[in-house]
Amino acid sequence: MPNMKETRVIHIDPEHINTNAIREAAAVLRAGGLVAFPTETVYGLGANALDAEAVAGIFTAKERPAHDPLIVHLAETRWLERVVRFVPALAWELAERFWPGPLTLVLPRGPQIPLIVTAGGDTVAVRVPADPIAQELLRVANLPVAAPSANRFGCLSPTCAEDVLADLAGRIDLVLAAGATRVGVESTVLSLVTLVPTILRPGGVSREALSAVLGEVAVCAKPIGDKEMALSPGTLSQHYAPSARLILYQGQGTTLLKAMCQEAMLQHESGKRVGLLLAQEDLPFFSGLPLILRAAGPLARLDLVAQSLFPTLRALDRAAVDLILARDFGIAGLGLAIRDRLTRAAGGRVVHVEGSLAKFTCGD
Ligand code: AMP
Ligand code: MG
Repeated sequence: MPNMKETRVIHIDPEHINTNAIREAAAVLRAGGLVAFPTETVYGLGANALDAEAVAGIFTAKERPAHDPLIVHLAETRWLERVVRFVPALAWELAERFWPGPLTLVLPRGPQIPLIVTAGGDTVAVRVPADPIAQELLRVANLPVAAPSANRFGCLSPTCAEDVLADLAGRIDLVLAAGATRVGVESTVLSLVTLVPTILRPGGVSREALSAVLGEVAVCAKPIGDKEMALSPGTLSQHYAPSARLILYQGQGTTLLKAMCQEAMLQHESGKRVGLLLAQEDLPFFSGLPLILRAAGPLARLDLVAQSLFPTLRALDRAAVDLILARDFGIAGLGLAIRDRLTRAAGGRVVHVEGSLAKFTCGD
C-alpha cells in the first residue's frame, strides 16, 4: 500500500484554460510529483519522464508491475528528438498525419529516458496528445511526461476525474479535473521497430486509417498470457476488467441476442444478478426481462460506443451485478479496440454464436 498523501483537485474549464492551474500542475511535475490529467483518450497519471524516481512513483501508486512500460507524452512532434535515439522517416510521416492524436509510436529509446520508463527495454512508446489541457501542461512543464492510464493496474481505465479519485485518491499529488474524455479508449500502440509496422494494441486510431498511410500493417492479435513477457503489456489477457465476471458474445443479429438472452435468463433463475452491455438498438429485445440493461451506443456510432465503454462497465459494477454479458461490436474502425478491451475484460471468456449454436471457446 503506497504512502497516503493529500490529493488536490483543480477543476479546469477546457474552453477557458486557467493558466495558473496549469503552472501549478507543471510545478508539481517539475518537482518530481504525480499529476493526473485529461487526455483525449482516458485520464493519464503523469510524472517527469526524465526522472527515474518520479516515474517509480507511478508504478507504486498504480500498483503496476515493473515489466509494464509507460507511454511518454510530448507537447509537439519536434520533441521526439528529446526522447528517441533516431527518428525513422515513417515516424515523421505518421506524426504529420495523426498527431496530435490517439496514436502511440514505439521507437528506439533515447539515452535520456531512464530504463524504468521502458521496463528495461531498448524501445520507448511516445505520443503527442490532442487534449488542450494535456498540451498546455506539457508545454508549460517543458518536460516529456510518462503517463499510463490513471487507474489501479488491471482495472477499468478512467474517463473522468471521479474515476481517477476512486482508484488513486491519497496516492497522487494532484488531479486536473475537466469532465469526460472524448475518445474513451486508449491510444493505438504501433511499433515501428518491427519489419512491418505492427499494431500492438488497437485503440483510438483505426487499423484502416493506418493502412491508408502505411499500406501493410500487421496486428499482434494473440492475447498474451500473464506469465509470458508481453511485447506490449496492455496486451495481457486479463486487463481493463470490471469487478463482475464478464463474458463476451460474438455473432450476428438476433441469433446473437437470443443466445445472450438464454444465458442471462438461466443465470437469473439460478439467483444471479445479470447485467447486459448492449447496443442501443438491442434494448427492445430485452425489455420487460429481470435483467440490468445498459447500452453503450448505436451500432452505427462506434465513436460513441468507445466513449461510453468504460463508463458503461463502471455503471454495471455500481449496479452490483454478479455477471456481465457483453455484446461484440465487430472489427471495423473502432470496433477492433472495443473488442480488444472487452476480450481482456472477459479474461478471454468469449462465446462465438454461429447460427443457432453457441460455442464457448476459451476461459472456464
Ligand atoms: P497504459 O497507458 O496504462 O495503457 O499503458 C501503456 C501501454 O503502452 C503499455 O501497457 C503497453 O501496452 C504500451 N507500451 C508502452 N511502452 C511500450 C514499449 N516500449 N513497447 C511496446 N509497448 C509499449
Ligand atoms: Mg492502462
